[in-house]
Amino acid sequence: MTTPLPQPTGQMPDTSIYERRESAVRSYARSMPRQFNRAEGVWMHDNKGGRYLDFLSGCSTLNYGHNHPVLKQALLDYIAADGITHGLDLHTDAKAEFLRTLEDVILKPRGLDYRAMFTGPTGTNAVEAAIKLARKVTGRELVIAFTNGFHGMTLGALACTGNAAKRGGAGVPLSHVAHEPYDGYYGPDVDTADLLERRLSDPSSGLDAPAAILVETVQGEGGLNAASPEWLRKIATIAKRHGALLIVDDIQAGCGRTGHFFSFEGMGVTPDIVTLAKSLSGMGLPFALTLFRPEIDQWAPGEHNGTFRGNNHAFVTATAALRHFWSDGQFLADIRRRGTMLERRLDAIAGQYGLTTRGRGMMRGIDMGSGEIAASVTAACFERGLIIETSGAHDEIVKVLAPLVIDDAVFSAGLDILEECIRAALTVTYGVAAE
Ligand SMILES: *Cc1c(COP(=O)(O)O)cnc(C)c1O
Repeated sequence: MTTPLPQPTGQMPDTSIYERRESAVRSYARSMPRQFNRAEGVWMHDNKGGRYLDFLSGCSTLNYGHNHPVLKQALLDYIAADGITHGLDLHTDAKAEFLRTLEDVILKPRGLDYRAMFTGPTGTNAVEAAIKLARKVTGRELVIAFTNGFHGMTLGALACTGNAAKRGGAGVPLSHVAHEPYDGYYGPDVDTADLLERRLSDPSSGLDAPAAILVETVQGEGGLNAASPEWLRKIATIAKRHGALLIVDDIQAGCGRTGHFFSFEGMGVTPDIVTLAKSLSGMGLPFALTLFRPEIDQWAPGEHNGTFRGNNHAFVTATAALRHFWSDGQFLADIRRRGTMLERRLDAIAGQYGLTTRGRGMMRGIDMGSGEIAASVTAACFERGLIIETSGAHDEIVKVLAPLVIDDAVFSAGLDILEECIRAALTVTYGVAAE
């Protein structure tokens, strides 16, 4: 059997309606100026008959690929039976099934005892709820977040986000957050967890006692920096010692992306609060969740509210995804194999050109040294029918976020395209390609 390959036509659609009527805020559409109309599995199709291999997966929202047949069927059946679509936060069959499945398939086998709070359906809302709760429970204001952290675009979450361009959109001061250096920020010889401990234990450091320490175990938007288990354990210990809650933002790194359901599994920490969104619904439906220890569930009824809390269609697809992919160890074995495959391929490419790699599991990338070179790589990939994006402070990391379900041969073919485009970009930049 021959491996299916991307088949872009190179034909541009008429984009005048977007230029006329869509806000200038649109972004991905600019670097991928096509009009998409269909997608299945790892493939996206445009309205000119082009076929694209998706190495972006909606920024890790489509870990199970586009329109997975099992999830799609569950949703079609639910809609056909006039299942509840919107029910505020009322009890519904779909919600009960989701909570039971979360308990049986995810929480219990991992020895985790969390309550689930259905926030508004986007990741940023799960983060808002998490930091609000931490402030309420501790009676403190300060949240410690990290350099290169990304936590969302609403004001509370944006205050926790590092990126200056994103912060600039706020229009008001972003306050009550301290951005401390992430693992490795000052290079391999400086332990930034020790620095944080020193500052928090010095009554004259100027750093207030924090309500929470908010961290990504792998910084999805901030350059795929991966925290070491030792560093994360120190951060957890520091949080506990100083009376702060540990929040792991698992919106991008969770749902299998790192080779575990939660990215912190196997690292020896149990966060007080965890945020999930992106791939949680499994099908790209908006759905976010804030999980926390039952003891800190100190919300008054309706204190954090929202019309779209608990998207019943997403309950249905999320339940189907948890049952289908997480009930046994097969999927985990597959994503770990693919994660190792990705690591080897990227290490080989990086080694050949004197570049470095970043990340963990199926969330890895190559540091191209500059945003300009990285952009030329992703643009060349797109011309070849490979959808791939950048990450990092200077958009210098080309990041591979393939669907976790990708067939090994297709994955390999996509990585071939990436390698060829990297070679071509470096040849243009430096005149010669390394051998
Ligand atoms: C995407 C993301 C968010 C924000 O989620 P939205 O759905 O875009 O609001 C927050 N944290 C992390 C780590 C993310 O990757």
